[in-house]
Amino acid sequence: MKEKTSLTGLRELLIPGIMQYMTTVMLGFLVIHAGFLILFLNQKMTIMVVAEILSLISYVLLLYKLHYKITRYDTEVLSGFVTFVLVEVDLYMVVAAILMGEGCNFDNYVYGLLLITSFQFYISHNFKRDILLKVMIMASYLGVKICEMNYPPYYRDYSSWVVTFFTFVNPLIVTGATILFVIMVPILIFKYEDKLTQKASLDELTGLLNRSFLDKLHFDEEKYNLAMLDIDDFKQINDIYGHHNGDLILQDLGNRLKTLEEKYDNTFVIRWGGEEFVVVYHVNNENNYVFLDIMEQLRREISESAVCIDYEQIVNYNATIGVAFHSEGDSYEELLKVADSRLYWGKQHGKNKVVFQESKI
Ligand code: GH3
Ligand code: MG
Ligand code: MG
Repeated sequence: MKEKTSLTGLRELLIPGIMQYMTTVMLGFLVIHAGFLILFLNQKMTIMVVAEILSLISYVLLLYKLHYKITRYDTEVLSGFVTFVLVEVDLYMVVAAILMGEGCNFDNYVYGLLLITSFQFYISHNFKRDILLKVMIMASYLGVKICEMNYPPYYRDYSSWVVTFFTFVNPLIVTGATILFVIMVPILIFKYEDKLTQKASLDELTGLLNRSFLDKLHFDEEKYNLAMLDIDDFKQINDIYGHHNGDLILQDLGNRLKTLEEKYDNTFVIRWGGEEFVVVYHVNNENNYVFLDIMEQLRREISESAVCIDYEQIVNYNATIGVAFHSEGDSYEELLKVADSRLYWGKQHGKNKVVFQESKI
């Protein structure tokens, strides 16, 4: 289930990059078709002139639709877009290959087409469409080959430089688009895989780190002080102002905690769960009071903060903080246990305080 979610995420993340590639390729095709049109006009090859004009019109319409009509790209739009390009190139390949003969290499486009169909399958997850497209492409390629073997090209008397031109230009176009594609896809995937991994390790509501991050720190080698923070009477806040506004308070606290990460080197804030947060502070040579001061300042800031909800109501909230020092444990589990027990003590003794010893405040 998890894998499926992240794959869907990757597919969706890839859309803008692929759209950009496809748009670039289509603009390239427009220029190429325009160039071919001039050549065919010059050679008075009427059917090819008509084929070029149809191709040009279809690309202009598609680009117009993409840029002015479609407001949101999703996998369905992208897949429809790619399918359209595949069908257009396939039809063009059949017409051009049959009319101009084998020497002009129009049938080379089949390689690019097959490569793109696999990609279109990944985007659409539409197996039926993929099979239909592959059958269509293979059938047209075989049809072209049979025609080329059995009949002379329709344009058999055109000048030899035209043949030479297409003999080289068509493989170049296919190779160019394919190279661009095989370079672009892995680059996009690497880029967005990193983004996905980062996203997966962040808490969605607050943007803070989540629990799994703690496994990456070496509590046995480095000195870390740790604090566990829990919002006071949060259930009541939810009951009075609603769950949605409760979330706004969690976000407010999240932003406040993020400033700790910015202010102090190697300080990390984790959303432990619900309305509980863990602060991990790297100790250099300073004494424990430095961390206690930071936590006391945080507690004060929280108690003085006011979250505005529904444009008019102001909500105040407090938090209790239990602190454990690096010397009190060799793993975050041990330190958490100490901090949690102090937090519990604080909850029992009036809340809204920083506790670093269970007998003192
Ligand atoms: P205490 O002062 O003893 O901590 O009291 P409390 O009401 O905060 O008690 P407790 O920790 O048991 O309650 C936590 C509440 O936090 C219960 C749950 O409904 C709420 N909560 C947990 N996660 C979320 C969340 O993501 N959003 C919102 N709005 N509420 C949450
Ligand atoms: Mg709690
Ligand atoms: Mg609470």
